[in-house]
Amino acid sequence: MNFDLSGELTALRRRVREFMDTRVLPRESEIVSQDRVRDDHSLLALQAEARSEGLWTPHLPTELGGLGLGITGMCVLFREMGRSPVGARIFNCDAPDQGNMDLLLRVGSEAQKARYLAPLAAGEITSAFCMTEPAPGAGADPSNLRSSATPDADSFIIDGHKWYSTGGGDAAFLIVMARTSDDLENGATMFLVDRDAEGVEHVRDVPIMSEPLLTHREAELRFHRVRVGKDAVLGDVGDGFRLAQARLVPARLTHCMRWLGWADRVLEMCKAYVSTRRSFGKELGRHQLVQQMIAENALGIHAGNLMTHHCASMLEAGADKEARPYSSMCKLHVARVLCKTLDDAIQMHGGLGFSDDLPFAQWYRAARAARIADGPDEVHQVVIARDFLLGRLNLLV
Ligand SMILES: Cc1cc2nc3c(=O)[nH]c(=O)nc-3n(C[C@H](O)[C@H](O)[C@H](O)COP(=O)(O)OP(=O)(O)OC[C@H]3O[C@@H](n4cnc5c(N)ncnc54)[C@H](O)[C@@H]3O)c2cc1C
Repeated sequence: MNFDLSGELTALRRRVREFMDTRVLPRESEIVSQDRVRDDHSLLALQAEARSEGLWTPHLPTELGGLGLGITGMCVLFREMGRSPVGARIFNCDAPDQGNMDLLLRVGSEAQKARYLAPLAAGEITSAFCMTEPAPGAGADPSNLRSSATPDADSFIIDGHKWYSTGGGDAAFLIVMARTSDDLENGATMFLVDRDAEGVEHVRDVPIMSEPLLTHREAELRFHRVRVGKDAVLGDVGDGFRLAQARLVPARLTHCMRWLGWADRVLEMCKAYVSTRRSFGKELGRHQLVQQMIAENALGIHAGNLMTHHCASMLEAGADKEARPYSSMCKLHVARVLCKTLDDAIQMHGGLGFSDDLPFAQWYRAARAARIADGPDEVHQVVIARDFLLGRLNLLV
């Protein structure tokens, strides 16, 4: 196994790291406070800088203004961008837009790409992915899908109720999963729906544990007899569940990449504090119980990094189906590591860690969603155990 990066990727990584260190991190809190009052001028300014530096949408092919990186290349850059919760947005590769771009690129028609992918890639609009519904609808178990799309002449009529459609309030378009038949495997279809189409109601942004950030506002939406043409179908009728898997496997891996960068930064911040703060006659970092926290989190981040690289290499080799349980392992592990690193960072910083003078408390509230979004821990455990018992997991690759 070779973990050496190509010269080109090493240089790109250095440039993104430098951009993050010198331009993004110094303005991070400014961007967050502007966002609280829905002002985005610092964000837009940095996006323009990222674009002029040639670092914009690196995951996309060069024809669409990207860098044509494969998923292992994305791993390297997304970790750097993920060091700040505002980083991915600055380079236009944040969730859910990045996963939606990926899906449109793979299965969108030429007309759909021109209408939705091009402005999304240019950063002119944002999008949302609408699968989850309030109980008793689709959640951890997507087969509970209730929203429906009924054929009517040359169109479909969508009725339904969604929530946790991240960014749905601000989005220009939505990818909506709806039931088109009762067939267990082929009963769902994805539709591209304009957010301002007649009958789409933005009920509210769901109040959540953490403060809303950029487009990460959790929209509740209702669809009242929304009429869309047959050309709004993404992929084919009946492909919804398969496309959702195809979108989610790489999308959850890109979450892992960003979370690894974030956790690594948190641990570096801990290093700075425990190396200087003295307690009982020596620096905190010389107390073994503090060292234990540092070691456990270092271990978790490094293991998560290797798991993510391994799974990315499977996707790059086209082994999408085989990669699924490995992506579940990555997602489960890295989400836990992120939460644990932040919890321990609060602990290692004592009262300062619990205060809002440092960002850990705020970050912890946001990071907690990692163990629920894109499938809760338990569902990933089910997948891992099932595939292990079926002999589909090779633990000692
Ligand atoms: C911040 C955030 C952003 C999100 N963004 C999006 C988005 O953009 N688009 C979208 O469509 N959805 C989004 N979601 C929704 C997310 O995918 C769902 O919350 C998740 O799939 C769980 O579904 P649920 O909330 O309905 O929980 P439920 O299905 O009600 O499950 C509740 C709990 O039951 C347990 N559980 C469920 N199944 C099992 C099982 N088989 N074995 C053991 N325990 C189990 C788990 O602990 C689970 O957390 C987001 C969620 C969050 C928190």
